[in-house]
Amino acid sequence: MPYMACTLDELPPLHVLIAAPRGFCAGVDRAIQIVELALEKFGAPVYVRHEIVHNRFVVDRLRELGAVFVDELDEVPDDRPVVFSAHGVPKSVPAAALDRGLSYVDATCPLVSKVHRQAERLIADGRHIVFVGHAGHPEVIGTFGQVPEGSMTLVETIDDVAGLAIPDPANLAFLTQTTLSVDDTAGIVAALKARFPDIRVPRSEDICYATSNRQAAVKAIAGQCDRMLVIGAPNSSNSQRLAEVAERMGAPARLIERATDIDWDWLGQPSTLGITAGASAPELLVREVVDSLRKRFEVTEEETNHSPERMVFKLPRELVA
Ligand code: SF4
Repeated sequence: MPYMACTLDELPPLHVLIAAPRGFCAGVDRAIQIVELALEKFGAPVYVRHEIVHNRFVVDRLRELGAVFVDELDEVPDDRPVVFSAHGVPKSVPAAALDRGLSYVDATCPLVSKVHRQAERLIADGRHIVFVGHAGHPEVIGTFGQVPEGSMTLVETIDDVAGLAIPDPANLAFLTQTTLSVDDTAGIVAALKARFPDIRVPRSEDICYATSNRQAAVKAIAGQCDRMLVIGAPNSSNSQRLAEVAERMGAPARLIERATDIDWDWLGQPSTLGITAGASAPELLVREVVDSLRKRFEVTEEETNHSPERMVFKLPRELVA
């Protein structure tokens, strides 16, 4: 239904169903704290290689505190510390920092590091690795950078599996990016197992708890929603997946960075609107969206809680000692 302007005393009703869990995960929380603690310990400026997490609001706030975001290590002055982002970095990056005598703090999420260590073990075992992920994503670049060139092959779709040319299929294993669609990945993994029955399966799921919980929370409410807003950055893999999950469940969805991005014509006048937020989007942005809705609708809010999260990751010793 198209959006119809109303006077203030006759705002149309809108039920807002807010998914939980949503927003910050333990890895993002830790990465942001690492930059804040590095600023406290070393003073500004602290350099950060790449966006610490995929969220402009988070990056801008840290920039105001004295963080300087750069694309490559050679932009970091010799006498300043550098933080590596939550997505992980190829081994060559800390090695280059050591060569230059730079102080660095690694904010790679421990769940991404876990995949890095699995990759190393599989290569030591003589396996070739099929990696399920999205080409060009920093996490994929970081994971490929843990193993010798040519020892890992990327697949993005089921069709890619059919086209794989593997010299020794008896010595194959697969790993996945942490922020994929749970459903799409299950399809790709089924295709891998069908084509390579001996392929070694990871001991535990690589898609992280935060990604799967946020997708499950969207699935739990999407059927009741006429529209869904996903708050997150356009380059955030887990946020993109949340919008896809909602659409597949029949709820037309839009990925927005913040309230000013709401397309009111597209939104129309739904009776129930779902809201969620990707793992790198702060709760403040959710509140901003709800406040903005309140200016046009008589909002009633309901929060669902699919699976409460208690995950906390330890901070690096060099910052808390
Ligand atoms: S989304 Fe998952 S892998 Fe990525 S930082 Fe959060 S917990 Fe870690």
